[in-house]
Amino acid sequence: MAAGNADEPRGTSSAQLLKGQRALVTGANSGIGLATAVALGRAGADVVVNYVVDADAAEKVVEQIKGFGVRSYAHEADVSNEDQVVGMVDRMVNDFGTIDIMVANAGLQRDASVTEMTLAHWQKVIDVNLTGQFLCAREAAKEFMRRGIVPEVSRSAGKIICMSSVHQIVPWSGHVNYASSKGGVGMLMQTLAQELAPKHIRVNAVAPGAIRTPINKDAWDTPQAEADLLKLIPYRRVGDPEDIANAVVAVASDLLDYVVGTTLYVDGGMTLFPGFATGG
Ligand code: NAD
Repeated sequence: MAAGNADEPRGTSSAQLLKGQRALVTGANSGIGLATAVALGRAGADVVVNYVVDADAAEKVVEQIKGFGVRSYAHEADVSNEDQVVGMVDRMVNDFGTIDIMVANAGLQRDASVTEMTLAHWQKVIDVNLTGQFLCAREAAKEFMRRGIVPEVSRSAGKIICMSSVHQIVPWSGHVNYASSKGGVGMLMQTLAQELAPKHIRVNAVAPGAIRTPINKDAWDTPQAEADLLKLIPYRRVGDPEDIANAVVAVASDLLDYVVGTTLYVDGGMTLFPGFATGG
């Protein structure tokens, strides 16, 4: 693709950093996953667009990605269902030959104060946000280890990128299921990184701050809500899905080949304890 393509968002590069690689993004028909799948395709990767509801939205993402001249298809699977995750990665190996990049992005919230939180709400969030990432990482790691390094494709045997959150380290009242799942994602990522690094597999996390997507619409869709939110963001803007997508492309690429077991916070400074900015 020529440099400076008019379709690209301002400030992004058309460099084909991931040319010839094959990526799978879970929860890729909405928000951060959608932007990430598109950014990976723009960077030259073939992309599997996973979704669990709304096939039409997934097909639109596939069409957008194919516009970059790479391969793409949509695949319905619930990331918390072992058989469906195994089937999803098996099909990808069959159809694309292998997998080079797994982006475990799918996630959800079921908010309640602790005394109101049902076991079902706790379990659902842990199942999707934590167990789902484990299953996706495990299936990708099996294929990475089977195939090994292909130097013309990448310096590493494969990359796993866990979509975490600032709530990997920031407690969040009224969201104990979500914060616990993301805290777990941090340790899942580090332990997998330690275990898989000798196999030349890189595992890292990208941890968004407040990003404008459906998951947190209440936090930004009125001027008052947005003003309150901005107090928590030193950089004083709510993030866009593309902010996260660009970070994922960078972490997945060989430019960051020596980055192993790290969480990249992409949060406008939200983890800088902004409440202490004027004293404390
Ligand atoms: P979103 O609601 O737009 O997207 C979530 C996606 O996950 C959707 O496509 C949804 O259908 C999918 N999903 C849910 N359950 C699934 C399942 N069982 N199997 C497969 N897919 C499933 O929200 P988003 O903001 O784009 O969230 C994406 C990720 O980013 C999540 O892991 C979320 O925790 C994380 N995150 C978001 C923010 C933010 O501010 N938006 C901040 C920190 C972390």
